[in-house]
Amino acid sequence: MADRKALVAGNWKMNGRRADGIALACAIAERAKEPHACDLLVCPPVTLLVPVGEALAGSGVALGGQDCHPAASGAFTGCISAEMLRDAGCSHAIVGHSERRHTCGESDADVRAKSLAAWRAGLVAIVCVGETRAEREAGIAIAVVSNQIAGSVPDGAGLDNLVIAYEPVWAIGTGLTPTIADITEMHAAIRSLVPSGTRILYGGSVNPKNAAEILALPEVDGALVGGASLKAEDFWAIAQACP
Ligand code: PEP
Repeated sequence: MADRKALVAGNWKMNGRRADGIALACAIAERAKEPHACDLLVCPPVTLLVPVGEALAGSGVALGGQDCHPAASGAFTGCISAEMLRDAGCSHAIVGHSERRHTCGESDADVRAKSLAAWRAGLVAIVCVGETRAEREAGIAIAVVSNQIAGSVPDGAGLDNLVIAYEPVWAIGTGLTPTIADITEMHAAIRSLVPSGTRILYGGSVNPKNAAEILALPEVDGALVGGASLKAEDFWAIAQACP
């Protein structure tokens, strides 16, 4: 993966009570004492940010939020701002995850506003993009993702504030993954649209069995991991698969 250090990020989604989250974070922190070639990040649900952050303290494993509101504060019931994430100890925020684009109707403009909010708070924005199954079958996957990048990534992106996660919608939580050729082609297309050296992660059913092949691709700079990030041994096996 060239000279970019890999990032393996766990998206816990809406999973975990206090005891589970703390136990998982402690197990990851323990494993992170062993040598590893990548940066590590976990993105727990909001209720677990503080206890997970405490469990990870000193481990080198970073903490991230799964979403943020464009505004810094205000009358937005149920939302969380990038400043609140920062206050809770986060260094990163995922924005534009397909589960928000497709189930909450978030547009590229929404994702762009959230990216700017993350930057305003001093967070790295992990901007998620990816095509649906129908879009891939129609041969427009690269066009769709290119449009998402153009609409979602604000001017001012650089290596210290942006990570892209390519996550085909049809690969998330399904056990399906694109071919190695398709991942390579898409990552190369994305790379032509973002600042040189930007980390581009692959996400969608990454697991301990397929991680080594995907993470070995020169265009892939790490993984955004959903289901497999909920088991410390699986998350760690994926991290260990980074070349
Ligand atoms: C995700 O939702 O970001 C994801 C990659 O999920 P999974 O690994 O479960 O497919």
